[in-house]
Amino acid sequence: MSGIDDLPPLRAVIDRFDLAAKKSLGQNFLLDLNLTAKIARLAGDLTGADVLEIGPGPGGLTRGLLAEGARHVLAIEKDPRCLPALQEIAHAYPGRLTVIGGDALEIDPLAHLTPPIKVAANLPYNVGTELLVRWLTPPTWPPFWDSLTLMFQREVAQRIVATPGSKAYGRLALLAQWRTDARIVLELPPEAFSPPPKVNSAVVHLTALPAPRYPANPATLNKVVAAAFNQRRKMLRSALRSLSPEIEDHLTSVGIKPTERAEQVGLEEFCALARSLDAGTE
Ligand code: SAM
Repeated sequence: MSGIDDLPPLRAVIDRFDLAAKKSLGQNFLLDLNLTAKIARLAGDLTGADVLEIGPGPGGLTRGLLAEGARHVLAIEKDPRCLPALQEIAHAYPGRLTVIGGDALEIDPLAHLTPPIKVAANLPYNVGTELLVRWLTPPTWPPFWDSLTLMFQREVAQRIVATPGSKAYGRLALLAQWRTDARIVLELPPEAFSPPPKVNSAVVHLTALPAPRYPANPATLNKVVAAAFNQRRKMLRSALRSLSPEIEDHLTSVGIKPTERAEQVGLEEFCALARSLDAGTE
C-alpha cells in the first residue's frame, strides 16, 4: 500500500518489472506518490474530465491522476517495458485507464478522448517542447484541450512565461501567451526524480483562452515573431526587412520604433504588426 491507493510503492514496481531508467528515453521517474498527487491537483478539478498523459513510465503521475478523480486517463508510453506495470494500475481502476504503447509524436489520441480534456505529463524535455508547440498551434482555436500541466526543465518553463525585456523572452513566450494563460505552479530540485537529472525542473500550467488575446492571423504572426527573434540582436527594421519593403512604415504605424529589438516588443504590438502587414497585402 502506498498512501494514495492500494497498489505497491513505485520502488517495488520498478524492481519487480525491472524498469532500470534508460537515458535514451529521458527516464527520470517521480517516485513520491504524494508529489505526483500534488501535481495531479495542479491540473485542476479532474472529476468529470478525461486526461491525456504522455510518458507515464512506471505510473506515478498516472496513479496521482486516478486517485485525484480523473474520469478517464489515456496514457501513451513509448517504453514497452512499462506496459505490464501500467496494466496493473488499469486493473486497480476498472474502466478508467487506457494505455497505448508507442511514440506520442506519432499517435493521434483524439479518438480515445471525450471532452472536457486536460493534458498532464512529465516528459523528456525535447519531446515536451515539441508537443507543447503542436498543442499551441492547432489548425483551429479553441484546441481539443482545456489545460496543459507539464513538467519542463526550469529554463524552458521560464521561456514559456517570460515577459518583454528579459533574456528568456522569445517565440515560446509569445506562442504560449497569445492563446493561453501560462503560469509556473511548482519548482522541483533534481532530487525529486530517480535518477536525478542535471537540471532543475518546473511544472507549467497553461489554460486555453476561448479566443486569442489579440486578433492576428496565426501564420503571419508566426512569420513576424520568427523573423524578429531569429536575429534578436538586430533592430527590427533590419530583422524584418524581408517581410515588406515598407517595414518601417508598418512598425511606426503600430507604435513600434523601427530601431527597437524584438525582446522589447510586447505581444499586443506583435499582433498589431501582423494585422498591419496583412492589411498592406490585401
Ligand atoms: N511520468 C513518469 C514519472 O513522472 O515518473 C515518467 C517520466 S520520464 C521523465 C518520461 C517518460 O516518457 C518515460 O517513461 C519515457 O519512456 C517516456 N517517453 C519518452 N519519449 C516518449 C515518446 N516519444 N512518447 C511517449 N512516451 C515517451
